[in-house]
Amino acid sequence: MSTDTPTVLPIHIRQTAPFRWDGVPLLAYKEEGGTQFNGVTRQVLFGGSGQLAAQLRYFEVSSGGYSTLERHAHVHAVMILRGGGDVLVGAEIFPLVTGDLVYVPPLTWHQFRATLAEPLGFLCLVCAERDKPSRPTAAELASLCTDDRVAAFVRV
Ligand code: MN
Repeated sequence: MSTDTPTVLPIHIRQTAPFRWDGVPLLAYKEEGGTQFNGVTRQVLFGGSGQLAAQLRYFEVSSGGYSTLERHAHVHAVMILRGGGDVLVGAEIFPLVTGDLVYVPPLTWHQFRATLAEPLGFLCLVCAERDKPSRPTAAELASLCTDDRVAAFVRV
């Protein structure tokens, strides 16, 4: 690539405060409201450009909060940057601490929860072009919840 190629993404973005970046808006996690998630913010750090076929987002789940229980064909590659919590991936629940990595395979139910003590912040890499998440039907939720640990964990 030549050096005079027009730049779409900024070359450098300064961190203005812990887990905040200059000019990066703090967004609602999802456009729709409801009880299926609680206390989650989203910041798009990289992406939205034809030059990059991926998006890197920073999500923060406030203490006691949780992301949506969902699944989709696209995958997530996650790195925990802040705090602690737990994640459900498929039928397994994993405790999370700063520095941990999480891979969410295609069409696999997943939900992140922060501890009561501190927020859970994580980077999440996705393909720029991706399918929409779906939430479990009543039958799918009942099937998931045949496992007692999963039933106790999930929030919908
Ligand atoms: Mn997801």
